[in-house]
Amino acid sequence: MDFELSEEQLMIKESAREWCNRHMPFDRIREMEINGYPYPKDIPKGLGEQGFIMGVVPEEHGGLGLDWLTQSLISEEIGYADPTIATAAAFMAVGTGWGFVIDKFASEEIRDNFIRPAIKGEKFVGIASTEPSGGSDVANHKSNARKVGDEWVLNGEKTFISGVEEAREWGGGYWTNVRTGDPSGGASHKHMTAFFVPVDSEGFHPDVPYRDAGRHSLSTSGFRMENVRVPENYMLGKENKGFYGTMEGFDNARILIAASAVGVTERLLDVAMEYIKERHTFGKPLAKYEGIQFELVKLYREMEATRLLCYKTAWMQDKRYQEGKYKPKEVAKWISMIKWKAPHLALKAANQTMHWLGAAGYTDEYPIEMAWRGVMSYCVGAEGGANIQKIVIGRELLGPEYIPYR
Ligand SMILES: Cc1cc2nc3c(=O)[nH]c(=O)nc-3n(C[C@H](O)[C@H](O)[C@H](O)COP(=O)(O)OP(=O)(O)OC[C@H]3O[C@@H](n4cnc5c(N)ncnc54)[C@H](O)[C@@H]3O)c2cc1C
Repeated sequence: MDFELSEEQLMIKESAREWCNRHMPFDRIREMEINGYPYPKDIPKGLGEQGFIMGVVPEEHGGLGLDWLTQSLISEEIGYADPTIATAAAFMAVGTGWGFVIDKFASEEIRDNFIRPAIKGEKFVGIASTEPSGGSDVANHKSNARKVGDEWVLNGEKTFISGVEEAREWGGGYWTNVRTGDPSGGASHKHMTAFFVPVDSEGFHPDVPYRDAGRHSLSTSGFRMENVRVPENYMLGKENKGFYGTMEGFDNARILIAASAVGVTERLLDVAMEYIKERHTFGKPLAKYEGIQFELVKLYREMEATRLLCYKTAWMQDKRYQEGKYKPKEVAKWISMIKWKAPHLALKAANQTMHWLGAAGYTDEYPIEMAWRGVMSYCVGAEGGANIQKIVIGRELLGPEYIPYR
């Protein structure tokens, strides 16, 4: 067992931190969070130029052929720089997690028109799974596709989708899972097919973005598909097999979001440590009081344990892809553990550090309150809610016959 990152991994992590320090300083992140969408375009473009977006995509498709561990180190640094986990994280973590599976199944046409530009940070690709009837029950979506001639015609509604406005402004599209096969039947993972749906398709009607609690520099909205026509080669994977690709996309994005959340926790602790050493009450620095120091130490311990869990999980994902060593469901158990743990730890860190800073922590002079609002999105739902992660872990521990909803 070797706990050391390679020289190349350390170098990439270091260069990600340097780039983020230079281009995503706190003043800018705060400005973006206050002003909301639209965000400055130089950030995704710069991330793209550095090779930070979709580095895991094979070189022959425009990526760098990086491993998932290295990609998650980049994600950690992006979370450190932008604790709102908004624009940069969406382009890098969501774009990479889903871009990787889109690329895996894509035709050359989709690769040239969407994947290569998205790698450069010039377009956005994401996931359109959630529907008004719910997001957790992925096999029960109502949007559907039927074959007409040599095209597929898609109808239905998607909601709470990250980056729709960004994709409309810059170009882009979504891994969109819809029902095929028996459109009138109940939930069935055997009736889902994935398509790539460009946002400028005829019949694609975007909704007005939500006013989210956090992640203000990134839009979340829905869209209606009214007879959206896509050619056969916009199907991603095989007909009625879209559920499996969707699970793979969630696996990938969850690894990167968890890594970003570790970065957020580290940033919050760094900010807070500086503050509690400086701030004096009753004649002593706050850092000297056990009521605060011991809380800090406990959070630090949890952060380092979670970081190791994230590294192990990314490493397992690499073994799965490179050597077929672990089964997807086995890795999914670990992925669900970190997707559940890391954002909740960041939320806890935001909650506790805000108390240490007192009133100052409740203002946007410090990155705590915006982190608190931003990471909450990944606790309640984005890339899957906590209870869904528990169901995945329970399924692997006890067996599929103990899935609670069956
Ligand atoms: C900021 C933000 C961005 C998002 N971006 C995207 C995106 O880009 N693309 C996309 O497709 N979706 C996106 N989502 C939606 C997200 O995937 C969903 O919120 C998530 O899947 C949960 O679905 P839901 O909100 O409809 O809750 P529901 O599915 O209605 O569930 C409600 C609650 O019940 C819990 N629950 C559900 N079933 C069970 C069960 N069997 N046992 C116990 N508890 C259960 C859930 O965990 C959740 O806490 C985003 C969400 C947020 C908040």
